[in-house]
Amino acid sequence: MARLVMKFGGTSVANLDRIRNVAQHVKREVEAGHDVAVVVSAMSGKTNELVAWCTDASKLYDKREYDAVVASGEQVTSGLLAIALQEIGISARSWQGWQIPIRTSDAHGSARIESIDGSSLVNGFNRKEVAVIAGFQGIHAESGRLTTLGRGGSDTSAVAIAAAIEADRCDIYTDVDGVYTTDPRIVPKARRLDRVAFEEMLEMASLGAKVLQVRSVEVAMVHKVKTFVRSSFDDPANPQPGTLICDEEDIVEQQVVTGIAFSKDEAQLTLRSVADKPGVAAAIFVPLADANINVDMIIQVVSNDKKSTDITFTVPAADFERAKVIIEGLRGDIGYESLQGATDVVKISAIGIGMRSHAGVAARAFKALADKGVNIRAITTSEIKFSVLIDAEYTELAVRTLHTLYGLDKP
Ligand code: ADP
Ligand code: ASP
Ligand code: MG
Repeated sequence: MARLVMKFGGTSVANLDRIRNVAQHVKREVEAGHDVAVVVSAMSGKTNELVAWCTDASKLYDKREYDAVVASGEQVTSGLLAIALQEIGISARSWQGWQIPIRTSDAHGSARIESIDGSSLVNGFNRKEVAVIAGFQGIHAESGRLTTLGRGGSDTSAVAIAAAIEADRCDIYTDVDGVYTTDPRIVPKARRLDRVAFEEMLEMASLGAKVLQVRSVEVAMVHKVKTFVRSSFDDPANPQPGTLICDEEDIVEQQVVTGIAFSKDEAQLTLRSVADKPGVAAAIFVPLADANINVDMIIQVVSNDKKSTDITFTVPAADFERAKVIIEGLRGDIGYESLQGATDVVKISAIGIGMRSHAGVAARAFKALADKGVNIRAITTSEIKFSVLIDAEYTELAVRTLHTLYGLDKP
């Protein structure tokens, strides 16, 4: 007998038929004798609708009330799945985040889980009762207010609950049958991976592969939660194992590049003719940091005349307008000639632990992209990944080019 957490994302609970299908997956594990905690997302599209209602109601909405609104999607599916399970003879009850409780920080809209008391769930197991938990939500203990964990946060609910109840495994059921070498919706030749190392999955998730929320991978890595990504669309009677997220040592055949990710959530800003003197970078980036704007890629050109230079950097697309306003306001202090911006850009990244021990991996990509006429606006590299910023219109071409270049296409 094992203890399992099974998480089902939005498409897996999109309507009552899909919820009944989820109940069959749960039934299989219960009948195998396991203790089961299920974590559910809202029905697909629901959270987007709830978010739009908040922004419609007020551009500067109260984030605490935003959480009260958007957390409701998961409340509905947790109750519906508990009913569907009862309907097929399985004892089950729903749990909201505050009932467990799942305690979080007070960063409304992107709260962090601080602690989970798993004892009430375990008491339920002792009564042979399946726990159906609303993902994505928690409570800030001091204020008593509902919180949500950021988009895609049910993944993190699931892994954190698995850690709290010392589950033997955490299965993340979604609409693809595992983690692929890149988004299979963009590259049909993408291959499913049997295993991905935690470090690689962290990079893939933070560089745009939304199959797992970044924080869920962090939690799995820190607490050593055995986590699988698998499909709820498999026959409940005959499911496939999916992809295991595991330690690097547990991967036998390591490729140089494991996956390609892309993110359209980028915007570029360029300051032309900035004075080339000490303190200029601080004058630009400290105010952005103070405004909680995450700067990612930074390029400063070496100046010809030692007097002026250009500085280019990227910020999340959602922060583009705010960053522009801040830089324009600093024009007197910084002393630049003009400010240019672009939002039709995409960041393409290649990730692989094998890059640590191989030279020239990125250089090959620059050549391959140049051969296809794709211009690179900015580059960053680190130990196990590199990223290039390019025009958004070349997204598919660039992802496919790199996917083929590094031998990731289906045989
Ligand atoms: P859920 O609603 O189940 O949480 P998501 O939409 O959040 O599902 O994540 C699953 C989606 O992630 C897939 O449909 C796929 O298009 C996308 N995706 C992006 N990159 C990858 C990848 N490398 N491997 C698998 N899926 C990926
Ligand atoms: N329903 C939330 C979202 O769409 C959380 C999740 O599905 O993981 O972001
Ligand atoms: Mg998701």
